[in-house]
Amino acid sequence: MGEGSAVANFLRRTLWPLVVGMAAGALLVALRAPAWLVAGGLLLLSVAAITMALRTRTAMLTVTRADEALGRTILPPLAREVFEHLPDPLLLLDAGGRVLFANSAMRAVVGVGSENKHVSALLRTPLVLEAIAHTSTSGEPGAVEFSIPVPVERFYQAYVARSATEPPITTFLLHDLTAIKRTEQMRADFVANASHELRTPLSAVSGFIDTLKGHARDDVEARDRFLDIMSVEAGRMRRLIEDLLSLTRIELNEHVRPAGVVALEAIVRETAAALMPLAKSDDIAVEVVAASGLPLVVGERDELIQLFQNLIHNAIKYGKSGGHVWITLATAPGPGGRGAGEMVSVAVRDDGEGIAVDAIPRLTERFYRVDVRRSRERGGTGLGLAIVKHIVNRHQGRLSIESQAGAGSTFTVFLPCAPPDNTVTELL
Ligand code: ADP
Repeated sequence: MGEGSAVANFLRRTLWPLVVGMAAGALLVALRAPAWLVAGGLLLLSVAAITMALRTRTAMLTVTRADEALGRTILPPLAREVFEHLPDPLLLLDAGGRVLFANSAMRAVVGVGSENKHVSALLRTPLVLEAIAHTSTSGEPGAVEFSIPVPVERFYQAYVARSATEPPITTFLLHDLTAIKRTEQMRADFVANASHELRTPLSAVSGFIDTLKGHARDDVEARDRFLDIMSVEAGRMRRLIEDLLSLTRIELNEHVRPAGVVALEAIVRETAAALMPLAKSDDIAVEVVAASGLPLVVGERDELIQLFQNLIHNAIKYGKSGGHVWITLATAPGPGGRGAGEMVSVAVRDDGEGIAVDAIPRLTERFYRVDVRRSRERGGTGLGLAIVKHIVNRHQGRLSIESQAGAGSTFTVFLPCAPPDNTVTELL
């Protein structure tokens, strides 16, 4: 029943006693009846009108409540509660497509106050509405994939089915595909980026091979120069493949806690020493300062060497020629404050070019570089900090990056300490 016709019905049913009362009052006045008789009659008719009005209102409320209650009677309290807490969004619709029930996950998708509304007022995708209409009339179950573009695009698989009950109920269940779609997209982007990165050195190498087979065949000077370039490009491809393999290996293990217990100072000093020739060639002084009595940390030695290699190498690569790299080891409170599991911090600071503030959040993305040409010139793959982030995650640590363009950068890694009386098995 429409709201307009319900109101008209209400007025028709309550106004007539007043109209009849007024007509009777006018007749009594015309017949010169005593005033008390007219007043008494009018009073009685008013009481009748009020009583009828109240009865009509109660009847109307009963009709609307009956509609709402349809959802309740169809769903016993236990089923209602179970559906309410389902993680997947669920709608139950009557044969006409009106909402009888929407669980809390569905309310997060279509908004609150959906009960009694037509489904087309909640979901606008024609494909979805067609699937619901088809299943409601034919009884054939259906499934469609669709997306809701705002506020942030989300992807869903919708399942529609009709019950064999009387009256029939149409169930509309959503399965959120957003995370899967994003992962698929990331994988596709990653493969596209990796092939692009490999294609550049590969085409340089094959170009030089063609030149050496052709007109430079007998040009000894050109041949030596080209072979040098080919060797640099081959080195770039090798580093890229090594970094890609490391990244995959670390990602595969990311959910497994490291089994070892290590002293960070020794690892950091060893790594810095191995990079000394590179630092020397850029005339950069590397200094390691460690607080005394540093606790051991839970960690995988090889992965931690790779982590500090990437950070110290970056500090040298993007540092200032004739400048400094400072590496400082200290203890730091855990994320929950003092006493909540201590950590060891390793800060790698340089006095190089620095990084613009808006680039900092993107540094750990695969293949992200602030200056692509500079990174390539310095032999970078764009994967170093992505590897650092995954190793830190696996170690349940934290990475902080502070920098100012032109004023150097500090990359600090925080790693949880091993329990004081640990053994390797206790940590597993
Ligand atoms: P790359 O192989 O290019 O060095 P990384 O993942 O290690 O890749 O670093 C990503 C980018 O972050 C670099 O290309 C560079 O632009 C920037 N970057 C990293 N470390 C530093 C640093 N110490 N100083 C300035 N920029 C840095």
